[in-house]
Amino acid sequence: MITFEQVSRRYRERLALDSVSWHMDEGECVVFAGPSGAGKTTLLRLITHELAPSSGTVTVGTFRGARLPRAKRALLRRTLGIVYEDFRLLNDRTVFENVALAVRITGHFADAEVVPRSLYALEEVGLQQKQAAYPSELSAGEKQRAAIARAIVNRPAVVLADEPTGALEPASAREILGLLRRIHDEGAALLVVTTRPEIGEALGGRILRLHDGRIAADEAEARPPWSAAASGAAPPAALTDRGA
Ligand code: ADP
Repeated sequence: MITFEQVSRRYRERLALDSVSWHMDEGECVVFAGPSGAGKTTLLRLITHELAPSSGTVTVGTFRGARLPRAKRALLRRTLGIVYEDFRLLNDRTVFENVALAVRITGHFADAEVVPRSLYALEEVGLQQKQAAYPSELSAGEKQRAAIARAIVNRPAVVLADEPTGALEPASAREILGLLRRIHDEGAALLVVTTRPEIGEALGGRILRLHDGRIAADEAEARPPWSAAASGAAPPAALTDRGA
């Protein structure tokens, strides 16, 4: 569903991603963990096609190639559900309107369908009581739940989350991770980028460590070298791409 084939991205002199290859299937949960500057945001923006790779190919579902026309890029972004560390809610709209706008913008639904769809998504995140509130009236955890309702309301095949608990205290963070896990259990693929490796454990996802623009190890598949040699097993694909 998402495939990176030897993807590099440069900003002038700085190589932010260095020939990165990886793949995730439909319904999978993948967590990219890495320190600040590792290339996580670049990776997400390549998936959303806000950025084009300097070399290599990014495939997201049937979207493939560096130069998608603007209309296709807009369609892709609506097809993905995206959750940000800083929520990115519209502060002059109610919680309901924030979610409903995401439905309306697809152009697929009559007004009569927008309301029940939006309310259902708010119910899924436990925020139906706050639908008339403005973001400024919500706690940080509630804001993130509203943002998640907006991300899932169009039933995306994949939900992308950029440090989704970064602005939350521990109890809200646990709640948000539980919610993301439930969304994944219900069938959506989930891709999270974070500086916190424990988030991968909390979500039960495959953890890929990103460091200096490279995938360091696929922990879910990593084997000690002697065991790989003994079993004759192929190393993880992410580790064999260089020079291929
Ligand atoms: P992360 O999200 O893991 O912190 P980024 O993808 O934001 O990492 O950045 C990876 C590297 O690319 C960093 O060294 C960063 O300074 C550099 N970088 C990111 N965006 C730009 C930009 N617009 N111009 C120049 N360098 C950038």
